[in-house]
This record gives sequence, structure tokens and C-alpha cells, in this order.
Amino acid sequence: MSGTLYIVSTPIGNLGDITLRALDVLRAADFIAAEDTRVAHRLLSHFDIHKPLVSYYEHNKLARGDEILARIQSGESCALTTDAGTPAISDPGALLVSQCREAGIPVQTVPGACAAVAAFSLCGNIGARFTFEGFLSMNKVSRREHLASLVHETRPMIFYEAPHKLRATLDDFVRTFGEDRVVYFARELTKLHEECVARTLGEAAAFYREHEPRGEYVLIVTGADGTPAAPAVDALALARRYAAEGASPSDAARRAARETNMPRSPIYRALLADAADPEP
Ligand code: SAM
Repeated sequence: MSGTLYIVSTPIGNLGDITLRALDVLRAADFIAAEDTRVAHRLLSHFDIHKPLVSYYEHNKLARGDEILARIQSGESCALTTDAGTPAISDPGALLVSQCREAGIPVQTVPGACAAVAAFSLCGNIGARFTFEGFLSMNKVSRREHLASLVHETRPMIFYEAPHKLRATLDDFVRTFGEDRVVYFARELTKLHEECVARTLGEAAAFYREHEPRGEYVLIVTGADGTPAAPAVDALALARRYAAEGASPSDAARRAARETNMPRSPIYRALLADAADPEP
């Protein structure tokens, strides 16, 4: 009888996010297929788990996938992990899952942390639906085609990005979506410096020209007509209060934006519109 492939999610920063079931499955598995065996070894040692490890990553997945399949078919059970989060989500694993399914091998998921879902949960009221876009291609043409296909997307779009490519990606976003769309930066999730900051794309591009991007980011770009660059009611109400107390529109918008985690420019524009058309 064949064994089982378990897709085991691991923490994206905070080791406390490992699930009890993940620990049980890792302890019970005959072997663990890991994206980077050194990373897996550190995680497993932390939980005092000692199991044979094999590497399974993008560039060995064809040959290694066959070996893993053969071992599972001979009765061993395999836990598949990646460096962080859920395997097969912008990570190795999808091909192995397909191979096992085609071979009639049981595949079970052991869900847990996923950066995309964690990031979306921090954005607040930006709609119930989203699209997951993962990483943009390194290839310029595919990258532009991918973005062009999203111009009319009305749902918030979730992207993964590495810090060293963030500036170029923001420039591409501005070119595709314009400067006024709101983008959420969900950064360093579950770690010491976790934050989720909203800016317009124009503000974000300017901010990161001045500041070096650091850490891990999920970017959530609001959709066309989805969350227009209108300030959230709370942020605008707060800014109006500061303005009524005597702050300049610029200061009032900046303080309210900082305190509500909203982009500054829509609030500022709304204050200027108030000033141009005061209520009687
Ligand atoms: N499979 C993983 C998952 O389910 O979360 C994603 C793996 S993908 C190779 C790595 C990307 O996920 C990073 O470049 C970043 O965009 C995002 N990511 C991973 N951990 C993160 C964290 N702690 N905070 C923010 N983004 C994170």
C-alpha cells in the first residue's frame, strides 16, 4: 500500500505559528522533502524533530520528484515543506502534488501560515474578494503582459515581491495603474517589525526612492473602481477635526494619514476640496 504526501505549511516568521497538526505530521512522516534542507533543519531542531531530509526545489523537481514518488509508492509517507508558508503557493510543490494525484497517491494538506492570506486580513474593508498574482516574472515582456492583463481588474490584487525588486515593480505599477491607486504594503508579517501601510502608488514610488526597501513584502493593489483613492471616512473625519483645530490642510492630512494608516494625498485633496467649497 502506498504512503501519503502531506503538504505542510510552516511559519512565515513567528515559530509560534506552527500548528499542532503540522508537528504531529512532521514527527510521524518517514521523510521530509524540503525546499532548503538547512532551513528545514533549523525549524525541525527547534521542535526537537529529527527526520531524514531530502531537498526538493525548483531546479531538481523533475528528477527528485520521481524519487519521492517512488518512495511514497513503496509505502513511505512524506511531509513536504518550503522555507516559509504554504508549499505550492509561489513555492515548489505543485508538480509533486499533480504527480501524486495522477498516481493515485493520497495527498493531504496541513494548512497554516500563508503570507498572501495573512496580508489580506490586515487590509481592512477593501472588499471580500481578491486575486492572487504571486511574483511578477523577471522577464520584462511577460511582466508587462501580466500587468496589462490586470488594468481593468476590479478586485484587490495580491503580489509577492522581493525587496531588491520593489522599486522597479512600483514603477511598473504606476505605469500600469496610474498614481492614484492605493497599495497596501504588508511587511515583515508575524515578525518584530510587522506593519501594514497604505499609500497611493505615487506616494509609494516617491517614498521608496528615498528609503531602502527592507524585509519581506506582500503588496495589495486595490482594483479599478474597487477602492478609489478616496480617503476612508475615519481618516477624513480626523483630518477635518485637525483642520478645524487650526492645522494647515497639509499637516492635518499628514497626521490623520499617519494615525489611520491611510494614504495622505486623497485626504489632502479632500481637505482642499472642503476649503474650496465650504458648507454654508
Ligand atoms: N508559500 C509562501 C506562503 O504561502 O506564504 C510564499 C513563498 S514566496 C517564495 C516568498 C514571498 O512571500 C516573499 O517574497 C514575500 O512576498 C512573501 N512573504 C513571505 N513571508 C513573509 C512575511 N513574513 N511578511 C511579508 N511577506 C512575506
